[in-house]
Amino acid sequence: MKHLFYTILFTMCCLFNCTLLFSQTTYNQCGTDEIHHYLMTHDTTYANKINSVERNLQLYQNNNDNLRLMSDTVLTIPVVVHIIHTNNANGLIDNPTDQQVIDMIAELNKTFSATSTNYPNVSSGGVNTKIQFALAKRTPTCGATNGILRVYAGNLPKYVESGIQYQFWGSYDPAGCGIAMNQVTILSPLWPQESYYNLYLIRGICNGAGAYAYYGGYAVCPSNGYALPHETGHYLYLYHTFNGQNNTTCPQNANCSQDGDLVCDTDPHL
Ligand SMILES: [Zn+2]
Repeated sequence: MKHLFYTILFTMCCLFNCTLLFSQTTYNQCGTDEIHHYLMTHDTTYANKINSVERNLQLYQNNNDNLRLMSDTVLTIPVVVHIIHTNNANGLIDNPTDQQVIDMIAELNKTFSATSTNYPNVSSGGVNTKIQFALAKRTPTCGATNGILRVYAGNLPKYVESGIQYQFWGSYDPAGCGIAMNQVTILSPLWPQESYYNLYLIRGICNGAGAYAYYGGYAVCPSNGYALPHETGHYLYLYHTFNGQNNTTCPQNANCSQDGDLVCDTDPHL
């Protein structure tokens, strides 16, 4: 099972360590699970999508074991990067330069091809997923683009002060820190998610999480892009290898295609 593309980074759960730009408190955990569990119980369309993906993954693992090993085709996914910045003049704080974004995508591609020095290579357990990413060259209306969108949010005091609020409970708390993520997506709307990987680089998350992604949706990372490989795994429906644990006991491990992260390369763990 090591050849599944899911084998990727994931060890990544141990390597995740992103740092907020401004907060005295550093939230370094991934917020994807809480959002996922909330949506599974509150959004029928989302739950149906996830259940369908899990069924198809099981069928694929059970019935197409040889098929996935035969293709040398590299899948390249177009990326649109939404930078929500406060116009820092030096281009380093929350407004990375084009070159810095290009470097982030290059490192992401190294990670997904097991050639990054920060993750296992093919001789130490890593796998070339044959999935790569490229900054979009065309907008949804077929105009030219470099795949990098910059939106000024320096006129939003709560954003300047504390970035965005992690809404794992579903709704925005106006008494809390930061602005709502849907305010961000109004500032810089999602491009069609069936055609692009939308990555939001934000000033930071002020409560409870360092970064997060929606399975099959979009990713939200600090503007230094540090958690990008991890969150991109979630974008591709990859669960944590500790999926299903309860902080005290390991997840069930009776059937590796149905327990933990649903992939057999790594045993479920705390
Ligand atoms: Zn995660």
